[in-house]
Amino acid sequence: MRDGENLPRSHSPPLPFFLSSINQMASIVICGAGIAGISAAYFLAHNGARDIVLVDERAPLSLTSDKSTECYRNWWNDAAMVALMNRSIDLLDDLARARANVFHLNRRGYLYVTADKSRIAEFMRAGQQAESFGAGKLRVHSELDVGNWKLDVGERYVQHPTSNFQFPNTGADLILDRALIREQFPYLSERVVAVLHARRCGWLSAQTLGMDLLEQARARGVRFISARVESIAVRDNAVRGVRLSNGTTIATEIFVNAAGPFLKNVGQMLGIELPVFSELHQKISFADALGAIPRDAPMLIWSDPQHLEFSDAERALIAEADELRGLLAECPAGAHTRPEGGAGSTIALMLWAYHTPPVAEKFPLAFDPLYPQIVLRGMTTMLPALEKYFERPPKPILDGGYYTKTRENRPLIGALPVRGAFVIGALSGFGIMASCASGELLANYILGNSLPPYARAFAPERYDDPAYRAWIENQNESGQL
Ligand SMILES: Cc1cc2nc3c(=O)[nH]c(=O)nc-3n(C[C@H](O)[C@H](O)[C@H](O)COP(=O)(O)OP(=O)(O)OC[C@H]3O[C@@H](n4cnc5c(N)ncnc54)[C@H](O)[C@@H]3O)c2cc1C
Repeated sequence: MRDGENLPRSHSPPLPFFLSSINQMASIVICGAGIAGISAAYFLAHNGARDIVLVDERAPLSLTSDKSTECYRNWWNDAAMVALMNRSIDLLDDLARARANVFHLNRRGYLYVTADKSRIAEFMRAGQQAESFGAGKLRVHSELDVGNWKLDVGERYVQHPTSNFQFPNTGADLILDRALIREQFPYLSERVVAVLHARRCGWLSAQTLGMDLLEQARARGVRFISARVESIAVRDNAVRGVRLSNGTTIATEIFVNAAGPFLKNVGQMLGIELPVFSELHQKISFADALGAIPRDAPMLIWSDPQHLEFSDAERALIAEADELRGLLAECPAGAHTRPEGGAGSTIALMLWAYHTPPVAEKFPLAFDPLYPQIVLRGMTTMLPALEKYFERPPKPILDGGYYTKTRENRPLIGALPVRGAFVIGALSGFGIMASCASGELLANYILGNSLPPYARAFAPERYDDPAYRAWIENQNESGQL
């Protein structure tokens, strides 16, 4: 039996121009079964939509969504992003409670680390700004006289739970007391002068979350079709149907572009140019046999730019490669790492986006074989115990994917100028953490439900506003890791 032969015949589709070739009907077709498409399908089905088809030419979650660091945070320098992430984390908490935390949500936090006293003022400003955006209170723990700053030194620093996500503290703890830093994080470099511990943050198993949402969506009738969306029929500026690589045509009035790195390409099938581009981000995972990264650590982020040391031979090699020459100058802040896996695991993940220019999306991905060495060296500045690996480097697994993003690094979620066409994408380096609130928001658009105040910040039509376009031009730092 072909997919959909058992669809109820009473269903009356729009009259499509390719009527003769139609062999299926659906209320909603979602292109892309990454975390974005799956979350959209889940929230649509959960909120009563029926007859939903999810189409992907690959296995669900297998292109970008299973390559992430799986971390989340409500810690952003953008009020709309704080609101979106707070909602997403609320939904993750609800799901974790309802599903016995099958996806291992924890709340270890993000620890931003500096060895530069002048960055303390930056941490302080970031904390105050995040607090004003609704990320939670900033608490300062200091033994120093920090001038006019209003210090809240009354509260004790509270350690993070290792695996529990039910932790009451939000906001951040700025620790300036070096004795407290050494007591809590003895594995950090002795040069560290301050750490900022953002608390409504942590990580989870993205694959388990995604598969759980997909199973629940399927239990509510969502159908998965393994094929490529090849074209979209549009008539009178309205969606009429889609044509798939397996020869199937599906009549539908609602089409969702959740194509991840192919967002632009699928947008063009609708005659729409989406304002997105992609960067290739790499990641290593390796067995930390020497235990340089403690198993109970939070996400650790080196917040200072740094110069890497190279031998003369290495310098000569690097100077020859266009994409690596930048390593001889000052390298950007942001090298980050975390332990991965439960009891018995020694795996650690490491990332550092020191060279991520916009690139064309091409698969299979080509990774830089020098990346593991570079990221290990950069990380050693924060975690000196890693130096032991210089002699005998661990054998890493190198993978990664595209951050497909907008110029201002906000996602695209909402209706497109073709009637019945919607988008959920440009999820950049935050698609796992934003997945639940993004899927819920898209479902609210399609179902005509009321929208939260943050919806406007992510709607594609925001670019119609000249003031918004001018604002984007003045953005230079997204806070993206
Ligand atoms: C190295 C790295 C680290 C990251 N770390 C984090 C992190 O810590 N936290 C976080 O929140 N996010 C992180 N991210 C970002 C996150 O992984 C992405 O934002 C998210 O996975 C994007 O999901 P998506 O569903 O939009 O895209 P994808 O997962 O790429 O899914 C898109 C799907 O669309 C399908 N598709 C495309 N075109 C078609 C077509 N024409 N027909 C049929 N199917 C089609 C593809 O086959 C694919 O399966 C990271 C990303 C990378 C690369």
